[in-house]
Amino acid sequence: MTQITLALTKGRILKEVLPLLETSGIRPSQDIAGSRKLVFQTNIENFRLLILRGVDVPTYVQFGAADMGIAGKDILLEDAGGGYYESLDLDMARCRLMTASSKDTGIGEGRIIVATKYINVARKYYAQKGRQAEFIKLYGAMELAPVLGLADEIVDIVDTGNTLKAHGLVTKELIANVSARLIVNKTAMKTKFEVIQAIIDRLRGAL
Ligand code: AMP
Repeated sequence: MTQITLALTKGRILKEVLPLLETSGIRPSQDIAGSRKLVFQTNIENFRLLILRGVDVPTYVQFGAADMGIAGKDILLEDAGGGYYESLDLDMARCRLMTASSKDTGIGEGRIIVATKYINVARKYYAQKGRQAEFIKLYGAMELAPVLGLADEIVDIVDTGNTLKAHGLVTKELIANVSARLIVNKTAMKTKFEVIQAIIDRLRGAL
């Protein structure tokens, strides 16, 4: 039997994806939310789930360690790897990738400093806009950077905007709308086509 591995993103996406799996008739052999395990068998023979950090999902899928994965579009835009198809927009865990700055920052013409976890996305965006910028990589709490004078702007994901507001920041430009996407390793799509297509159909049917 062909073994299929689906890599899931822990956190917010997982919370929204678990009910989708349930509706699709895919049931983990154990309660994922209440466990520290990272690999779960399911009710479907030879179909298992991995629980990863979002940034690692495209890497597992690119190298074929996972055949399929579910990750946010923000992660996919930032990922430079490729090697997978984006097969389905799950239309979940929606948010926006945006630039933001302090309320009182004017629109300067000079070189600005941008702090973000999304260095590749930011570099491309500011270059497209013809804006001179330097980039500082952060791994979290981006909203602190303008407050403490580390950066003029940040590129971050925004949902309600409450996190920004709480730090006296305002959103400026929309870079991309984000939602959870299903990705499939290109080789697996060929070699395991029928099984993978059946899983995609199940998920699509449950949306
Ligand atoms: P909010 O205050 O509602 O704008 O949410 C902002 C913070 O929530 C962001 O900085 C993210 O860390 C997190 N967040 C919002 N939407 C998502 C999402 N779809 N997936 C993961 N994290 C999110």
